Amino acid sequence: MKKIKVIGGGLAGPEAALQAASLGCEVTLYEMRPTRSTEAHQTSDFAELVCSNSLKSESENSAPWLLKQEMRRAHSFLLTAADASAVPAGHALAVDRIEFSRRVQELIDQHPRITVVREEVIRLDDDPDEITILATGPLTSPALTAELQRLTGSQHLAFYDSISPIVDASTIDMDKVYFAARWDKGTADYINCPFTKEEYDRFIDALSTAEAVPAKEWEQIPTALATAETVAPNTRHSDPTQHEENDRHSERSEESQYFSNKATISKRANIAIGDGEPHSSPQKCHPERSGEATQSKDLRLTAPSAEEKLKYFEGCLPIEEIARRGRDTLRFGPMKPAGLTNPRTGRWPYAAVQLRQENLRADSYNLVGFQNHLKYNEQARILRLIPGLENAKFLRYGQIHRNTYLNSPTVLTDTLQLRAHPRILIAGQLSGVEGYTESIAGGLLAGRFAATLAQGRTPTPPPRLTAHGSLVHYITHSEAKTFQPANITFDLLLPLEEELRKKIRDKKERHRIQCDRALEAWTAWLTQTS
Ligand code: FAD
Repeated sequence: MKKIKVIGGGLAGPEAALQAASLGCEVTLYEMRPTRSTEAHQTSDFAELVCSNSLKSESENSAPWLLKQEMRRAHSFLLTAADASAVPAGHALAVDRIEFSRRVQELIDQHPRITVVREEVIRLDDDPDEITILATGPLTSPALTAELQRLTGSQHLAFYDSISPIVDASTIDMDKVYFAARWDKGTADYINCPFTKEEYDRFIDALSTAEAVPAKEWEQIPTALATAETVAPNTRHSDPTQHEENDRHSERSEESQYFSNKATISKRANIAIGDGEPHSSPQKCHPERSGEATQSKDLRLTAPSAEEKLKYFEGCLPIEEIARRGRDTLRFGPMKPAGLTNPRTGRWPYAAVQLRQENLRADSYNLVGFQNHLKYNEQARILRLIPGLENAKFLRYGQIHRNTYLNSPTVLTDTLQLRAHPRILIAGQLSGVEGYTESIAGGLLAGRFAATLAQGRTPTPPPRLTAHGSLVHYITHSEAKTFQPANITFDLLLPLEEELRKKIRDKKERHRIQCDRALEAWTAWLTQTS
């Protein structure tokens, strides 16, 4: 039987190790802490919960409940430890994190077939005598990230989630802003906050002196990655739509002034400016996949300095970084006024911030392309300089944080094996699931699959009807271009047949049926694969 190597002692790794060992395999579990830590981890414990202590809802027939029920039926070691460490938390399963880690440590220490090695793994050898489970999480060490890139190709890894601020709609001064679609294309869904030159200057002055959150070591992208294919080609000379837009608007003086400035700005800031939609993913962007996506974005960048590359990905620059590249750069990027005629003046403003509806209730809007890395009190001060947002209440401030994960739809099979290296399996958040419980569930599957492979057999994916099968289906069948990590929700589960959906009006009842079906299919799969 082949040996199993599990890399990562967070949530997915220990579950995978315990599953594989309980199925008779010899397992070596590698964890780099305490030799090297991540920014989020505080201890060298296995199964450290880096933030909240909740493993989500235990309400019957909710999606997180279903996932946990499936895990219990498969004898998840970490979920058993969580149940035994539970603290009162209403309908949620919350744990005493120290006790939880202690129990996981005990399980690993006492298992005769698990050997623990405390060292950073920096190479992934596709050894024919070994099955590897990579479970190094969203903060995978830079050296191993570079190695993973070597194996999968740079375009298959994402590095950052960025979040734009969100504003409470009832606090926007509607007398100052206006609804409009750029170039009147489509419906006027965006709220536009128009700036005069004076207002823009004041905003830029404030932004350029604002205090950013200090950069942490873990936010530095490995040089090998930063220098790879992250920069989209500069297409400004070959994009015919650009010339059409220039011709169409050259009559109007402020507009032609705008376009004539464009070339100068773009050269100075090293940015080629487009005229399409604003930054296409205002809340979360994953610039490493921006090879083609960047083509349709505003900011098409030519090579930045090596130092800049180490800090940020170019399709996802924080506003303060864009401003640093030139006083006018923002108004040729996310604050672009082109095509946004203000009905009160009949003209384009000098610059504009666009607000996009955040939810169906339309009670909140996000600031398009306004991801930033400023301290929250600085964001409160500076964002209120935007016309119309003087008295705004911000429901969320902008953030940029590291989240390494694979573009699983392109690289993973439905048994969590790398297509190009089937002896390497990916588990946990690195595979594109999101959340503690989902990461443990990924470890559970990977451990079982790895044990089957180690015994020379072919693993069977869990049924699509189940919560586990739905997570696997999501990470392996999503649209690769827009793939983002996801928690388990009913959106991922297989819906009921149309006829049944129409017949059963009560959503709770529909969910109950989905859960019943899932548990039945899961139990059958466990029996078949044990
Ligand atoms: P991890 O738990 O991060 O485990 C990975 C392990 O691999 C770590 O122990 C790490 O030290 C080790 N490692 C990394 N590189 C190497 C290497 N080269 N060699 C050896 N070992 C290595 N989810 C929630 O449900 N609730 C939350 O509140 C929550 N908060 C989060 C807060 C932050 C800051 C982050 C980054 C994520 C958060 N998540 C949260 C998301 C996710 O659920 C957790 O990150 C979860 O811990 C992922 O489990 P994992 O096993 O995939 O990775």
